[in-house]
Amino acid sequence: MFLMHLGSLRTSIVIAAFLSATFLMACEPAAESGEEGLTEEVVVNLPSDGAIDEALASISEERIREYTQVLASDEFGGRSPSSRGEELTIQYLTEQFASLGLKPGGMNGTWVQEVPLVAITADPDMSLAISGAGGSRAFEYGAEFVAGTPRVVESVGFEKSELVFVGYGAVAPEFGWDDYAAVDVTGKTVVVLVNDPGYATQDPDLFKGNAMTYYGRWTYKYEEGARQGAAAVLIVHETAPAAYGWATVENGWTGTQFNLVTEDDNMGRVAAEGWITLETAEAIFEMAGLDYHEMKAQAELPGFEAVPMGDLTASLAIDNTIERSSSNNFLAKIPGTTRPDEVVIYMGHWDHFGTDPSLEGDQVYNGAVDNASGIATLLEIAEAYTLLDPGPERTVVFWGTTAEEQGLLGSGYYAENPVYPLNKTVAAINIDALPIYGATHDYTIVGFGNSELDDYAVRANALIDRVVKPNPQPEKGSFYRSDHFPLAKQGVPAHYGGAGHDNIEHGEEWGRAQSDAWTADNYHQVTDEYSPDWDLSGAMQDISVWFRIGLDLAYSNAFPGWNEGTEFKAMRDAMMGR
Ligand SMILES: [Zn+2]
Repeated sequence: MFLMHLGSLRTSIVIAAFLSATFLMACEPAAESGEEGLTEEVVVNLPSDGAIDEALASISEERIREYTQVLASDEFGGRSPSSRGEELTIQYLTEQFASLGLKPGGMNGTWVQEVPLVAITADPDMSLAISGAGGSRAFEYGAEFVAGTPRVVESVGFEKSELVFVGYGAVAPEFGWDDYAAVDVTGKTVVVLVNDPGYATQDPDLFKGNAMTYYGRWTYKYEEGARQGAAAVLIVHETAPAAYGWATVENGWTGTQFNLVTEDDNMGRVAAEGWITLETAEAIFEMAGLDYHEMKAQAELPGFEAVPMGDLTASLAIDNTIERSSSNNFLAKIPGTTRPDEVVIYMGHWDHFGTDPSLEGDQVYNGAVDNASGIATLLEIAEAYTLLDPGPERTVVFWGTTAEEQGLLGSGYYAENPVYPLNKTVAAINIDALPIYGATHDYTIVGFGNSELDDYAVRANALIDRVVKPNPQPEKGSFYRSDHFPLAKQGVPAHYGGAGHDNIEHGEEWGRAQSDAWTADNYHQVTDEYSPDWDLSGAMQDISVWFRIGLDLAYSNAFPGWNEGTEFKAMRDAMMGR
């Protein structure tokens, strides 16, 4: 049966405009869109309605609860990467997916992909020295700046590296923007603003206006600095554009930092990645005879050119303690019946924060909602797929990522070392935390407007009378902060969404209040534990949506793309030969 049940029994030949013409929110009439440059025919051969309904009906709230309870039990110790909890988790997932009849989906016929990790702990006894003809000043680690190195070396540093202010530090061809165009920063220390010019100006025509682009993320600033050959990148912290206060930066960037390790031990990355407080920035600009706020205003203007900071130089030495380890991405698959080389991915992170023996009382970060519930969902969706006859035309992969909580490391490693070729990977659906407060009228897409996958979500939600809404706070950059993002960054379209706040029984205000309270009381805390009181009716709605989105992809030959103006479109188009 075709997608949308057109009433035809033919199993092939659907016009190119099929998808956009049939989705409820599509705006172009079908008759015209065949001439709009689309050349591939999109064919969708779904199993019968009855078969789909039966598969959907098999998804059991009871089993979601059972799987979640096992994964979130104290015995699993909070599922920290490289721990006994990891062993138990991988073993449990292997047994469960095997018993459902899935095949190993990892490297060399195994269920896993090994992910090499390194833990680097910088000696806090360091200071950032800024000097020029007018004198010098040493800034205090923690209170005034933080810095570390991704390089796997015992000591690293630089002396008298010239300082350059590079504005937002963005090289964004799709927005006609290049902060590095007029400057060579090889060996220099760049000072860069957080977020992007669109957020700074709230101009909807600049970047993506209020919504953060990848150019606004700190990860991007460091990556671009490395591409430009800089010795160090110092990001100026301001609370509003960063979306968190200095305390978060100080806690997050000091102490042990987990990283992936490349073959060259990360020597291709900048020697020092750091943040400076707003006060530190103001002081350094003053030493350079510049006004920080004036320079910041200039950096918001198209055509901005980087500004050398007088005769100022920076010096910094970092000593590290290094510990190498490894962890595992878990991968299971249902091989495709007709196009097994094409892959649809369901993903969710299995890891959480482990056990902290220094805590009084409860020491286990059980991570029941985040993300034992998401892994339980992968198992239930996998089982539903096994009941479909005929089976999916494309291979469906179920991927439990590791070290998400350490900075998307498992997904980041996979994206750089894909088990399945990225140009054959149709899309990824990321599941991170089930809703526990009941059924809703709405569904929120994080990164709404980025890709044609939105249409699939709109249609799947319409089947259960739900409306799709954009993420209400796109300036926080949530799209860049979960595991689908490393794939998106490599060009693979990715969907990340779930129940909104508009609770069917209690209304929107109540729904938002429950969610806010949960975040305040339980998010990333030892109290994120399983409770029989969870209302999983909204989760069951979400699961049916995720199942449908994957179904519409796994039984089709469509390769949905990124929308015009997204950071990832050029890369996808290149790999797909578009
Ligand atoms: Zn999570």
